[in-house]
Amino acid sequence: MTIPVLPLDRYERIVFFTGAGLSAECGLPTYRGAGGIWSEYNYEDFACQRAFDRDPEKVWDFHDERRRIMGEAEPGLAHRVIARLQQERAGTAIVTQNIDGLHQQAGATEVIELHGSVWRVRCRCPDGLQENHDQPIERQCPACSAYRRPDIVWFEDPMQEGPLRAAATAIAECDLLVSIGTSGVVYPAAALPQLARQTGAMCVEINPEETEVSGQYQVNLRMGASEALSSLWPEVAEMSR
Ligand code: NAD
Ligand code: ZN
Repeated sequence: MTIPVLPLDRYERIVFFTGAGLSAECGLPTYRGAGGIWSEYNYEDFACQRAFDRDPEKVWDFHDERRRIMGEAEPGLAHRVIARLQQERAGTAIVTQNIDGLHQQAGATEVIELHGSVWRVRCRCPDGLQENHDQPIERQCPACSAYRRPDIVWFEDPMQEGPLRAAATAIAECDLLVSIGTSGVVYPAAALPQLARQTGAMCVEINPEETEVSGQYQVNLRMGASEALSSLWPEVAEMSR
């Protein structure tokens, strides 16, 4: 496969748009397809507000287990390369659909989390939104004793407006968009890369498989995240090992 030359000094605003494939390299399962979480679990029983209202304990059992598995995962080389690029280059944004916190664990800051984080919980009461890494978690809110829920975007939930707007702005202003490990089927997140195309940015997709949105990218690197980033920017990868 021909690796395109993308000199970093040619780009002022890079956006990394990431999905579950990035963390698959750290042992976390993806969502769709064989071995994916939603082929094993029915989201209607575990990942929507209706399920939570019906049986919060069952939904929390599922999420406690997700938190346990995610808590044991370490960021991979690709996470570290992205974090390093963000630290070294002002104007680099990270927009993720992942809820595992691995970008931050690799040293990234200001990660735009489109689908929230398993490491936050929320309750409707004032100050109900809280960062929380406890395992297992106290399921009832200490202030009002209602069940609190993970601060993630479940199926049928609306997207959180702040992150969506921040993502749209970053992507519309970028000159290089690198999409990594996302199947591109979940909207509105999946529509964001089109914004970059419209303003003439260079768009690169990194995914071992073809996706429904592959045609939106000028470059498709059919390889894993770490291998692709190491091929594009070997010096940065070397410093991130
Ligand atoms: P996905 O599982 O749909 O796709 C993962 C992609 O990663 C696949 O295209 C696969 O080919 C690719 N991949 C596999 N290994 C790779 C590697 N080593 N390097 C690069 N790519 C690799 O994941 P997604 O696109 O992030 O899906 C997003 C959707 O998942 C969410 O929008 C949502 O539906 C679901 N999700 C749900 C919740 C929830 O609890 N409701 C939370 C987060 C995400
Ligand atoms: Zn409360």
